[in-house]
Amino acid sequence: MITVENLTKSFRHDQSSRADVVALDNVSLEVPAGAVCGVVGPSGAGKSTLARCIALLEKPDRGAIRVDGTDLVALEGAALRAARRHIGVVPQGDSLLRQRTAAGNVALPLEAAGMAAPQRRSRVAELLDLVGLTDKAPVYPDRLSGGQRQRIAVARALAAKPSVLLADEPTSALDPSTTDSVLTVLDRARSELGVTVLVVTHDMTVVRRIADDVAVLEDGRVAEHGKVLDLVADPGSRVSTSLLPETD
Ligand code: ATP
Ligand code: MG
Repeated sequence: MITVENLTKSFRHDQSSRADVVALDNVSLEVPAGAVCGVVGPSGAGKSTLARCIALLEKPDRGAIRVDGTDLVALEGAALRAARRHIGVVPQGDSLLRQRTAAGNVALPLEAAGMAAPQRRSRVAELLDLVGLTDKAPVYPDRLSGGQRQRIAVARALAAKPSVLLADEPTSALDPSTTDSVLTVLDRARSELGVTVLVVTHDMTVVRRIADDVAVLEDGRVAEHGKVLDLVADPGSRVSTSLLPETD
């Protein structure tokens, strides 16, 4: 379970602007264990900042983040590094290392955790099987399709058996059938591994396809948060309405 309470994060202004950018303004959110929550909203709404804060890649100014009951904000040093390993991250954009094969990318977190080579090989094989890319093990990222690269990124994020998976725009720039292959993998993470998933997306079709709950962010605030079916039936905010197709 992921619990976010009154999370606030500002970024220092640069020379061209006077005011700080408030990327997250008192955001509260709960994702039940084993659920998939979609985070949607316009560009600049704070979606990536939220995911990066939960991933402990960004330190919030205020607020609490609990994963399975442990408050992560106060952690430092070795405890922080240990907590990070229990959170899988698929970063926004192309995140694979070009100089490593698909299998080499998936192995990365296992190497970092000091896993011995034989165990690592069998774990990598399991993960490649999970994402349906066993045959791509020796292939370098520039020879993979966009959807295959994202599935490898998901396999890498799941390598250390995290209880939580954060995926930031995992399907942006993919066509519908490739999108589907990536969503199938996220769905398997939840259904077969029991991982709690937070998926950031511009695309309501992604939310409708795999999410139970959805949070709509606007200007760093939660404009709406609830069941996907309820939001689709009755969008309560202007942003939510704009994200849904006019006819359906
Ligand atoms: P997109 O859909 O375009 O990915 P987003 O909803 O993920 O947008 P964020 O990346 O979370 O948006 O950014 C939220 C706000 O915080 C934006 O105004 C952005 O310019 C600002 N911001 C994000 N990261 C930084 C940073 N490292 N330094 C300064 N400002 C930042
Ligand atoms: Mg973003």
